[in-house]
Amino acid sequence: MRKFLIAGNWKMNGGAEFASDLLSSIKEHKPAISEDVDVLVCPPFISLSMAIDQLHETDLLVGAQNMHQADEGAFTGEISAKMLVEAGCSYVILGHSERRAYFHETDQLIHEKTKNALAHDLAPVVCVGELLEERKSGDHFNVVKGQVQAAFDGLSSEEAVQIVVAYEPVWAIGTGETASPEQAQEMHAFIRSILKEHFGEIADAIRILYGGSMKPGNAGELLQQPDVDGGLIGGASLDAESFVSIITTAESLS
Ligand code: PEP
Repeated sequence: MRKFLIAGNWKMNGGAEFASDLLSSIKEHKPAISEDVDVLVCPPFISLSMAIDQLHETDLLVGAQNMHQADEGAFTGEISAKMLVEAGCSYVILGHSERRAYFHETDQLIHEKTKNALAHDLAPVVCVGELLEERKSGDHFNVVKGQVQAAFDGLSSEEAVQIVVAYEPVWAIGTGETASPEQAQEMHAFIRSILKEHFGEIADAIRILYGGSMKPGNAGELLQQPDVDGGLIGGASLDAESFVSIITTAESLS
């Protein structure tokens, strides 16, 4: 009942030329995407409009990597959900661990952003995940539970089902180290159980992506886990062949 979502988080990499070349290369390697898989690219803000134009009439979706929680106002340098929707974005990544760590984003702020994105029909990809110390001390379930509960706090089932959760153990992001398929499945099932407590059966329709050094060589075993509904991919999404290979793996497992 859940469609795989393969999402590329380009982070702060590449300018307009890089973005255009990467998108052309993805389209060249993958002219058609199976209806059973959603594919999303999240370039830097400055390349969003260009990406939306370039991907017009393709099945690729475009999303942003962040947004402000207010609709408009004196917030120099910020971008709102309303602007992203106007530009043609359908998703927005929220609460990435890099935003939590370097920009001091709190659970409360991420909740406010989630609510605002939903109010504008922009689907949030809410990132959660523990630090290495937290896993080592056995606190990882508590940490992730707190992050999930904060993001979904007070939402209706209709709102909750539009959210995508990305479980990204911080120790696996950009490190080349990946959670084992068993570790990923264990945490994904735990996240789904929290969502079930709050939203009942609707939790079975909420997609939970794995993120943290997903690449062509490990995507298959991760995506085969029953509660892994796709991937949020950083490094490997910057290489068309690698990204397309992960998409193809998801298609073969659908
Ligand atoms: C990410 O930052 O969302 C991510 C998963 O990065 P990487 O794939 O490079 O670990």
